[in-house]
Amino acid sequence: MSQLIDGKQISKQIKDELKEEVQRLSAAGRKACLAVVQVGDDPASSVYVRNKKKACAYIGIESKSFELPEETTEEELISLVEDLNRDNEVNGILVQLPLPKHIDEDKIIRTISPDKDVDGFHPVSVGRLWIGEKGFLSCTPAGIIQLLKRSGITIEGKECVIIGRSNIVGKPMAALLLRENGTVTVTHSRTKNLKEVTKRADILIVAIGKKQFITSEYVKEGAVVIDVGMHRDENNHLCGDVDFADVEPHTSAITPVPGGVGPMTIAMLMNNCVETIRTQEERP
Ligand code: NAP
Repeated sequence: MSQLIDGKQISKQIKDELKEEVQRLSAAGRKACLAVVQVGDDPASSVYVRNKKKACAYIGIESKSFELPEETTEEELISLVEDLNRDNEVNGILVQLPLPKHIDEDKIIRTISPDKDVDGFHPVSVGRLWIGEKGFLSCTPAGIIQLLKRSGITIEGKECVIIGRSNIVGKPMAALLLRENGTVTVTHSRTKNLKEVTKRADILIVAIGKKQFITSEYVKEGAVVIDVGMHRDENNHLCGDVDFADVEPHTSAITPVPGGVGPMTIAMLMNNCVETIRTQEERP
């Protein structure tokens, strides 16, 4: 029988560990504060921002909200981020993406100080990840590593295949699996014979962004399947990039959607926020 990897339970476990750690650090005079910046009122972004602030409150991290109107200019947003970079009371800065079209997201990401880059998107964080230096890890892939480890799944020596090469999932996932001594293959829309490649995987990470695209034909018998996808099906229920009902019987372990990778992203964001005070003394 396949093991259902319970992201809800594992993320709760991580948040509880962080809560305890924050209590200890606060008692020693180290307090974390996350600045959360949202531009416009996209409903999905508002839900994400609300959940992030809720997680902060649960763990004992202060959060400061900056809700800016849709018409905010790029210059105004850059100026706010620069102020937050200088603000000694703010340890982490999160600018909720996507931003309105008239604002260049890359420019904003690069403006955030790498020492406060809790999303792990700044090129300095990405570079640190690839050369194995300590730094902020991209939250969704870091969450997947925790799901695997805390479910007793060994990565070392395993054939790991990732479908997708985005900057927020596929690429950092590859770096993290490599760090754990997996043998890593990254596939994308130009990959030839995708099924042949994915069938080699002991651990298959699916971040293709296409609803229920991956069927059992793509999966080796007994593989571990991690579904990063997030969609709504015809009945408005959440579903992933994997056709769960078809694939699950062929796996040794699999994440559900919802309740798999999703809850881990916020837990790892909270871990990055705590990291800002863990390492405070080492910073210049
Ligand atoms: P993305 O930027 O759209 O990237 C999709 C990747 O899949 C691209 O690299 C693309 O290749 C590749 N691809 C597309 N069609 C393919 C095909 N037919 N065969 C092989 N590869 C193909 O997506 P993303 O941002 O990485 O997100 C992926 C999914 O995860 C989405 O459903 C998203 O909603 C979800 N997500 C969930 C969380 C969470 O917290 N649970 C976080 C982030 C994302 P090319 O590069 O060649 O175009």
